[in-house]
Amino acid sequence: MGTKGHNNAIQGNTIAPPANKSNSAADDVITSDVIIIGGGLAGQVAAYAIASTGLNTIHLAPSTPIDRRTSALMTPSVSILQELGLVDDPAQMGFPLEKIRIIDATSRLIRAPEALFNSAEVGEEAFGWNFANAELTKRFAPKIKKLGNLTAVQASAKKMYRTGNNWALDLSNGSTIHAHLIIGADGKKSFVRQSMGIGTNQRDHKQSALVCDLSLERPLNGESVEYHYDNGPFTLVPAGGNKANLVWVENEDILAQVKAKSPQGIRDILQEKSKNLFGHISLDTGVFVFPLSTFEADKLGMEGVVLVGEAGHAFPPIGAQGLNLSLRDVKDLLVCLSDNAQDSFPSMQDWADKVSQEYAQKRKVDIKRTKTMVDTLFSSLLSELLPAQALRTGGIWALKSIPPLRKYAFQLGMGPS
Ligand SMILES: Cc1cc2nc3c(=O)[nH]c(=O)nc-3n(C[C@H](O)[C@H](O)[C@H](O)COP(=O)(O)OP(=O)(O)OC[C@H]3O[C@@H](n4cnc5c(N)ncnc54)[C@H](O)[C@@H]3O)c2cc1C
Repeated sequence: MGTKGHNNAIQGNTIAPPANKSNSAADDVITSDVIIIGGGLAGQVAAYAIASTGLNTIHLAPSTPIDRRTSALMTPSVSILQELGLVDDPAQMGFPLEKIRIIDATSRLIRAPEALFNSAEVGEEAFGWNFANAELTKRFAPKIKKLGNLTAVQASAKKMYRTGNNWALDLSNGSTIHAHLIIGADGKKSFVRQSMGIGTNQRDHKQSALVCDLSLERPLNGESVEYHYDNGPFTLVPAGGNKANLVWVENEDILAQVKAKSPQGIRDILQEKSKNLFGHISLDTGVFVFPLSTFEADKLGMEGVVLVGEAGHAFPPIGAQGLNLSLRDVKDLLVCLSDNAQDSFPSMQDWADKVSQEYAQKRKVDIKRTKTMVDTLFSSLLSELLPAQALRTGGIWALKSIPPLRKYAFQLGMGPS
């Protein structure tokens, strides 16, 4: 597909044109088939996947602080990374999630029984794997670097506009680069989304998420343990041996108070929240707090521009869906590229337009389904209303006691394979 294996070379402020490309606005500045904007995990995977098809690709990734989050990736998502060639053996870089335990720690009138879900019930060794985002980035980097037709540019995009058949991007380093197809993987506040005038239905939550790494006296043994508190879950995720990653969703003002405490003060609070089930807890890192919001972009693709990852959708980390969904974005984008060979279009603009339209259409159902699932889970966790509490309790009881229902819920949570 497309133009195979060009080695782009940065020349001053521009990037040398691929030898056989001619439909540029100005022959001395034309660049690339595709530019991916954003160096988070969605951008890294998209850049690698697209360049692997042979398309001439630029990855715009300004340097950023280390991503302290961890990601539970379900088995189908790990398979996507394996098929792409980004992950060989997940055990080399992550930790299996074999069981999920739910403990109702709310002070509510109607409370759910404790429930344990085992991946063996769906014939899998694990529901998925827990990875540190920084470890994934470290492992992906040499693989991304190896692709000769992928040029990395360490700068951010400042302005985006049409020049003839192409998109032009003015960069923070003063240069301008051009491409036919633009992939916005530039996170929640996406510059690409805003430049295209694409709106969202954003809802900011009063909860944030606190993350840190812990050592426990008693190991989790492959079990992810979710304590459901009144304002959100406190989840210990296995990180090998007696290590755990904490993801604690709580009201933002409470988390701000926790963050302001001394390490000993923070430790004491986490110890209490864990109900001492895993013995003595110690902090291995500082704590990091992320504000939470829910949205989907009104459009995921138009006029030769597509949005992947949190540029197009964001959720609270309930049911671990965000990056899983982003990997399915990339998978569907690859299908759209393979359905639309460049040489079957009269111009590169027609090609990019078609890819972006097909992608927008293709992603609608999965994103709606995921958003509905996370919304339902989140609001049922937080509801003060007795009928909602009864429904949630009944739901957990039903999941615990009715195997076919439990299987269906597992499939829903793991996402389409
Ligand atoms: C606490 C927490 C826990 C989570 N746990 C899970 C989980 O267990 N499982 C799961 O699937 N998901 C999880 N998620 C969600 C997951 O982390 C995100 O969906 C995913 O990391 C988003 O990746 P991204 O690349 O889309 O965005 P980001 O990581 O935000 O990356 C966007 C990048 O774009 C760059 N950028 C921005 N503007 C520009 C510009 N103008 N030019 C160039 N670059 C630009 C930024 O510098 C940044 O590097 C969690 C989220 C949180 C907050």
